[in-house]
Amino acid sequence: MVFVTIDDGWTKDPTVLPFLAAHDIKVTAFLIGKVAVRTSPYWDALLSQGGLVEDHTVTHPFLAHRTLAEQKAEICPPLEDDQRLFGRRPTLFRPPYGSLDRTTVSAARDCGVSAVVLWDAVVQKGKLRRALRGPLQRGDIILLHWGPGLAGDLRALVGSLAASGLHSALLEDYLGPSPSLISTRGEPPAPASRAR
Ligand SMILES: [Zn+2]
Repeated sequence: MVFVTIDDGWTKDPTVLPFLAAHDIKVTAFLIGKVAVRTSPYWDALLSQGGLVEDHTVTHPFLAHRTLAEQKAEICPPLEDDQRLFGRRPTLFRPPYGSLDRTTVSAARDCGVSAVVLWDAVVQKGKLRRALRGPLQRGDIILLHWGPGLAGDLRALVGSLAASGLHSALLEDYLGPSPSLISTRGEPPAPASRAR
């Protein structure tokens, strides 16, 4: 299994949801808080086909080197907002740009997030790049973005999945109820704090 995560949310391509459904890909959407609160039937449709919304800060800043209070002010509010908007409190947090430090991990824990999630591979401009090179591996967390290129990126991803013999699954189904704080190893290079 590999895990498909799609970040941000500014672009909502109407072709993407049917494509995900046709290929039985359930995605974890790390939505920016400011995007999520502009409620859209698009996200309801994503949820109805088995996706989940998780925390990606309120305003998408670089978090590293900010104070605990500043980081909590970015990480905590989407947990309440998403609960209200989508009927489920996020359990996962992804720091924008993969920018984090020890304070980020503390802030996420204080807010009640169970895991800080980075990624192992990125699909961008129709190409899959794995942080540690080579083909997709079982357990990889794959990052895409809700941008104008998403439909093409998903086609590339489906091609990579077929070539590797791997299937996608929903990340939350595999992390368990209380996963350790940082769940992956991929890009970006050397964040200051990385458990596991
Ligand atoms: Zn982002």
